[in-house]
Amino acid sequence: MDGSTSTAHQHDDRAPRAGAGTLGLELETPLIFDQGAKGRHGASLPPRSEFPDVDASARFGKAARKSQPLLPEVSEPEAFRHFVRLSQQNFAIDLGMYPLGSCTMKYNPKVNEWAARLPGFARLHPFAPDSRVQGALELIWRLESALAEICGMDRVSLHPAAGAHGELAGLMMIRAYHEAQGRSPKKVLIPDTAHGTNPASCALNGLKAVPFPVDESGIVFPEKLAEFIDDDVAAVMITNPNTVGLFETHIKEIADMVHAKGGLVYGDGANLNALMGRGRPGDFGIDVMQLNLHKTFTTPHGGGGPGCGPVAYKALLDPHAPVPVVEKSDDGHFSLDFDSRPGSIGRMRSFHMNFGMVVRAYTYIRELGAEGLTSASELAVLNANYLRARLSDAWHVAYDRVCMHEVVLNDKRLRETGVATMDIAKRLMDFGFHPPTVYFPLVVKNALLVEPTETETRQSLDEFVAAMNQIAAEANENPELVKSAPHHTRLKRLDEATAARKPVLRWQPAE
Ligand SMILES: *Cc1c(COP(=O)(O)O)cnc(C)c1O
Repeated sequence: MDGSTSTAHQHDDRAPRAGAGTLGLELETPLIFDQGAKGRHGASLPPRSEFPDVDASARFGKAARKSQPLLPEVSEPEAFRHFVRLSQQNFAIDLGMYPLGSCTMKYNPKVNEWAARLPGFARLHPFAPDSRVQGALELIWRLESALAEICGMDRVSLHPAAGAHGELAGLMMIRAYHEAQGRSPKKVLIPDTAHGTNPASCALNGLKAVPFPVDESGIVFPEKLAEFIDDDVAAVMITNPNTVGLFETHIKEIADMVHAKGGLVYGDGANLNALMGRGRPGDFGIDVMQLNLHKTFTTPHGGGGPGCGPVAYKALLDPHAPVPVVEKSDDGHFSLDFDSRPGSIGRMRSFHMNFGMVVRAYTYIRELGAEGLTSASELAVLNANYLRARLSDAWHVAYDRVCMHEVVLNDKRLRETGVATMDIAKRLMDFGFHPPTVYFPLVVKNALLVEPTETETRQSLDEFVAAMNQIAAEANENPELVKSAPHHTRLKRLDEATAARKPVLRWQPAE
């Protein structure tokens, strides 16, 4: 949070990695299946004859394998080098600025990793009885309490494994709530700025996602929403701040309107990083929301998982909360309660959530404290507005007013040059930046959604502005240069049409 993330932008002439030339790897790294040799391995297991009592067919029945699995046969150094090499070909938040709007790619503080690796946390056994894991249960309980306070909600469940999974949990709770009252409304109203996971979560839960348009100023207007509200509305699902980086100023009025008709308000909390410490969703009428620990609370995004997307809820939904629930007794003992909520939506996942993420998020919260969290969200908003102001000379800003944590640009001013959003994204890679989110949100044509986060320094923001402005100049002077980018990455522009039409998704052994 001290803004000390350093960025080492390599602008040009990236040399091939050591050894790559001699191995013929400058174009492509072979799959691990194409490396090694038959019979080579990296582990030494005792011969099978030493385990006469291990009988796979007795244990697994019909599911037992009849043939050997097709696994790569490589030595330990071969396996290690392969994955380290791949990691070096990848872009990461530890290498440079990653302004991927909506995804909140904050730096992941390394103290989180230290805490998560403490043996008492890292070596817990998921079947250990409650009495043996009091510290871990207390940590879960403490994180739940901290998140509940930050959101202004009554309770939190850490079970869901991602933001989208948290949405699913919340919608299941909403459905269970209505059913407990003998109702079964089916519609969920979702503004057209929403993230694609919102309608998907509805569909998975047997609810009908009904989109409605936002005002041209980019936010939901109660008058417009009113046209869509009827008795069949189970909930309104609303993201605040929304995915065009604007605060939904009418949120309280919207919540009151929905409540008056018997519906509930689902808050997509993915953008809490712009709000924490300054405003609480529970205070402006949200009944249930998800949090994305990998966005707001610096746990790693980690290639899609394992993640943690807690669901926070008001007391009226508590009977339907996922189980088990961590409870604290009067004598300070912690336990997992599986039984006292017959109306529960059930288990969201096995064991006790992604506990390593719980430790990391809790570490982050304690590291910053209330004031630190508040200044994190303030700086995230300040940084986005700094970019908005500095980029607005050369770029079209879709909603040209004070934004929250992210800002939407597009390629409108470059139309005559033939340079489009995708070219800009590719060219940014030549300057050592991960591209912003492109072609989302859908309500802005050819959007570039830029989210710097609070962890970037003034210097790295300035470097990003300089790169963007240079690209705008290049588009006018030498559009081909931008349209054929990237020029300095390991691989050049890929054939995306063939990749989509004839995807090669599986390795097949050579005959
Ligand atoms: C990221 C995001 C989600 C989905 O969260 P995941 O953790 O990626 O599943 C949902 N809504 C919004 C607004 C988001 O930005």
